[in-house]
Amino acid sequence: MKNGWSDTDAAHFVTQYAPQWGTDLALRTYSSRLLGAEKELVLHGGGNTSVKTTWVNILGEKQPALFVKSSGWNLATITPEGHAPLALPFLQRLQSLPELNDADMVRVVRANRLDPDAATPSIEALLHAFLPAKFIDHTHADAILTLSNQVGGAQLLAEALGEEVIILPYIHPGFALAKAVAQAFAQAPASRGMVLMHHGLLTWGETAEAAYAATVSLVNRAEAFIAQRLVGSPPSVARVTVAEAMERYAAIAPLLRGALAVRTTDPDHPWQRFILRPLITPDVLALLDRADSRALLCTPPLTTDHLIRIKPLPLWLEEGATTAAQIHAAVEGYRQDYLAYLEQASGGGEPPAAGWFDASPRLLLMPGVGVVCVGHTAAEAEMARDLAVQTLAVKGTMARMGGRYAGVTTQEQFAMEYYGPQRAKLGAGVPLPLGDCIALVTGAAGAIGSGICRELLRQGCHLAVSDLPGAGLDALVAELRATYGERVVPVAMDVTAAQSVAAGLRQVVQTWGGLDLLVLNAGLAHVSSLEEMQVEAFQRLHRVNVEGTLHLLSALARHFRVQATGGDVVLISTKNVFAPGAQFGAYSATKAAAHQLARIAALELAPLGVRVNMVAPDGVFSEGARPSGLWAAVGPDRMKARGLDAAGLEAYYQNRNLLKARITATHVARAVVFFATRQTPSTGVTLPVDGGLPEATPR
Ligand code: ZN
Repeated sequence: MKNGWSDTDAAHFVTQYAPQWGTDLALRTYSSRLLGAEKELVLHGGGNTSVKTTWVNILGEKQPALFVKSSGWNLATITPEGHAPLALPFLQRLQSLPELNDADMVRVVRANRLDPDAATPSIEALLHAFLPAKFIDHTHADAILTLSNQVGGAQLLAEALGEEVIILPYIHPGFALAKAVAQAFAQAPASRGMVLMHHGLLTWGETAEAAYAATVSLVNRAEAFIAQRLVGSPPSVARVTVAEAMERYAAIAPLLRGALAVRTTDPDHPWQRFILRPLITPDVLALLDRADSRALLCTPPLTTDHLIRIKPLPLWLEEGATTAAQIHAAVEGYRQDYLAYLEQASGGGEPPAAGWFDASPRLLLMPGVGVVCVGHTAAEAEMARDLAVQTLAVKGTMARMGGRYAGVTTQEQFAMEYYGPQRAKLGAGVPLPLGDCIALVTGAAGAIGSGICRELLRQGCHLAVSDLPGAGLDALVAELRATYGERVVPVAMDVTAAQSVAAGLRQVVQTWGGLDLLVLNAGLAHVSSLEEMQVEAFQRLHRVNVEGTLHLLSALARHFRVQATGGDVVLISTKNVFAPGAQFGAYSATKAAAHQLARIAALELAPLGVRVNMVAPDGVFSEGARPSGLWAAVGPDRMKARGLDAAGLEAYYQNRNLLKARITATHVARAVVFFATRQTPSTGVTLPVDGGLPEATPR
């Protein structure tokens, strides 16, 4: 890796932050960002940094302080607030204690924050307090882990890094590790760094630049040592291409997702589902093709702080195992093994309370397909994916060196997987009602569609935003992504073409592993009397409103059968199905056909646990600044038919219902959410959203 230090950039940080926070913390922020920018050094909040400097208290007195990275901050994006100020002299005195349990350690560190609003400091805070150096950098560098996680790793590290680096055997993070680090340093005060076996690297210095330069130079030495060992051992080449593997993945993903889903005792919500993210690259496919792949990769994570994200072991799925029965058996076997691990590792003591753990794998290794990364949300699955990229790369390099992987013991894994401060990183919080749901909304770019999208995202959905390709879809996706990030994907789809529908569905499956909720919202309208009806106009509406509905219902029925975890469909129908309007024959008739298809789907799909319901709104004119495309098309004709202007037409619709209600996209969206969250055991039901129109009330 390159030394990224720049005096110009450092000066910029000083200018920006020193006036409020002091030069030390400004430079601490700068070099922390340099470390965080390197994926080969730290991932997802891993690693931590500190500086010993002064804190000015409320009386204007200067007192010695340790600023140490807080949990929840990423080095890549840290600001001065990301380092919590702690009362250094008191924390240093804790060294005199013979031992200190984790709960007390966390409490005493939190109690010694100089700013009570600062976030909880890293669990490695005492390590930073006990080491005397001013600046300390701690990373989980790939090159160091490549050596430290091999059989004979200490020997290799000594060879690679030389005399001035201390090598410390694995110790569970906490008080014992902090003391051991301090003692090892006291015995070799001239050393410039320390490797914590199966964990990472510590370097230090009197300046931010010196500590950072020590990290860079030690990592470079390890990298050079590894490169030398790789000469004459080129990486292997995969049997299948990424495109082939991606096709295979699309075929198998719904089965995997179905097998991973966990049965609940709630009949309205019988499945807790996962979100899947594939990791399919030439390197990964080649690694999975190695003859020793299973022995190499079905091993513990590189560092124990990965355990909460990817569990002690991945699930291995043999290449031929592609039937539902085989996949279910493999997942079930994994869960049994995991429970046995909990039982064994807790040593007959208290195993974690039920409900506090789940036994499902987070990484699935599939030769010829790739790696499937699993999480309760896309964000979690993405984190597992990043860790998988790093883990596989390191283990692959190690294998090419001819090394054998050495992880920590089962007891050590358990201790860290269920370590309180680690579990806290998973976040408690009440999950959103549709947090495990993958939804697709057609006709999303319109007024009602965009309103439905917004409401489903608010409820936690992972959402495929679908419409014809174009500016409307792009603008909506950009808008939704600004708030909901990776939970939004655009799916350009023409509902009138079965192939386009199949491709769209495949795209959703490849992105998140499956689909649980379909909102059929795409629709066209046309104003004409039967007397003057052009059959082409009628056919155009038929293709979208009827055939489009049919294509999606057919494709989803097949998908739901494979995924085998139920599902929901909501059709946006119309009050015209029950109370058609003159001049609105093409629309009313084709929507009635779609409505009837949905009712049939309710009958046919109930045995699969799929509920199909209809929402029947009266006219919705706009959603925020987004006008209804449907009304833009038919509004002028409807106005003419009724002798009204635009405002008059809207008022006419409002005044014709019992509640004198203006119907909005949000109202329609709430009805969709009512069905999607399964508030009642209902299927084949129509919910009017029309302010009360007696002649349109379904009966
Ligand atoms: Zn660490």
